[in-house]
Amino acid sequence: MSNRPSIAIVGRPNVGKSTLYNRLTDTRDALVSDLPGLTRDRREGEAKIGGHSVTVIDTAGLEEAAKGSIQARMRAQSEAALVAADLILFVIDAREGITASDQVFARIARNAGKPVIAVANKSEGKKGVEGYYDTFSLGFGDPVAISAEHGDGLGELDRDILSALGLKAVPKRKRGKVDPDEPVSEPDEAKEAPLRPIRVAIVGRPNAGKSTLVNSLLGEDRMITGPEPGLTRDSVATDTVWQGRAIKLFDTAGLRKKAKIHEKGELLSASDAVRAIRFAEVVVVLIDAERPLEQQDLIIAEMVAEEGRALVLAVNKWDLIEDKNKLLKDIRETVDTNLNQVRGVTLVTLSARSGRGLEKLQDAVLKAHEIWNQRISTNKLNQWLDVALQKHAAPASKGRRIKIKYITQVSARPPTFVAFSSQAGGLPRSYIKYLTNNLRDAFDLPGTPIRFQLRQTHNPFVD
Ligand code: GDP
Ligand code: GDP
Repeated sequence: MSNRPSIAIVGRPNVGKSTLYNRLTDTRDALVSDLPGLTRDRREGEAKIGGHSVTVIDTAGLEEAAKGSIQARMRAQSEAALVAADLILFVIDAREGITASDQVFARIARNAGKPVIAVANKSEGKKGVEGYYDTFSLGFGDPVAISAEHGDGLGELDRDILSALGLKAVPKRKRGKVDPDEPVSEPDEAKEAPLRPIRVAIVGRPNAGKSTLVNSLLGEDRMITGPEPGLTRDSVATDTVWQGRAIKLFDTAGLRKKAKIHEKGELLSASDAVRAIRFAEVVVVLIDAERPLEQQDLIIAEMVAEEGRALVLAVNKWDLIEDKNKLLKDIRETVDTNLNQVRGVTLVTLSARSGRGLEKLQDAVLKAHEIWNQRISTNKLNQWLDVALQKHAAPASKGRRIKIKYITQVSARPPTFVAFSSQAGGLPRSYIKYLTNNLRDAFDLPGTPIRFQLRQTHNPFVD
């Protein structure tokens, strides 16, 4: 297959090129090092992106390959690597922002005359946001925020790679159900086809019914795939398909069963929950209807929101409840008062044992994932901002009215917005809460954690 498209990963030392290479090619053999400029051979490997085979070229190490006129050597070597490429991934370290060295590599990437995707790596947590914003200044279009180490943002990167190469994702099929007469892909399905499986974790207190739920969700299709990169050896991730979408289900109950730990009466292990939440894009917090919404459940749900994952609340053992309406109303009320950061989160009732409500749960997970991935155009956001500010003006600080001039969405997963104001530190929390809630309603983003940050604008005409 010589006409396989190839992608070169370019950037200054230590931004995470090898780590990204490993992620894309699913290998762990590449050297990853804290030492900048560890010399390595140029490596090439195969990656599957949206069902297509592509060649990935890691240029890590080229930068420092020779002594002497380093800049000239860097340039020559990297340029040579880029000749073969159909697409360039230009990687920066979002925690450090754009450096002079980045500018050198950006020029190399630009001069190659190939399409370039700017990749802001190390974007996990909040430290990456500023660097991400800086990445716009390189002029490579909308950057993609990822964490190569944690595996965040890769779906989005895949999507951008496919679109840059003019390819469409090939929808995945359930095993054993391939009908040769069926068309290879329907356009609409292809567009929405999963590029990578959606990672879903089910967490909850012992006895909530996690094992039962996982078993009924997997049914006959159960297939243990073993340890995933980035997780410890004893974790269990299972591949399945929900409504045509590939799902990787992380099973904390199975994890314990496997470790042969007797869990009766045992408290939820915090590290299990944390691990599951870090792994997941969508977390289902499973609640026992007979012990509805205890402090522990709320704490887990809060953790999910803080980690910026999509959340679904599921109340299990619904078959045991007599006054269903009353209980549902009570739970809804507790959720609304206690989980403001995920206002409008979906509440599903089900019976893992009988299988009732499983389809509703799948719908809710897919929907939560979609909302979590939502992108809103800058134009629409600023139209909204005008109206929101008119309705309820920003308060004054130190005698001056704070002006919010501009807002933009810097990333999805979760939706993250940066607004620029005359005094970044000056806005009271209650006002930020007003804006966040208003934005949630205006753009229909129920239940997803929303990140909202303020930055101070520097007005060049003032000084
Ligand atoms: P390269 O020189 O560009 O190939 O960079 P490496 O892949 O060798 O990574 C350099 C360092 O950055 C290593 O210590 C990695 O563990 C770290 N790193 C890579 N990706 C990430 C990430 O997404 N987040 C964080 N925090 N560190 C990362
Ligand atoms: P885990 O500790 O969260 O994995 O919980 P298990 O799946 O082991 O379930 C704990 C207990 O609840 C078991 O006795 C299950 O049979 C029971 N259980 C699970 N789901 C349901 C349900 O939907 N209805 C009823 N009545 N019992 C359930």
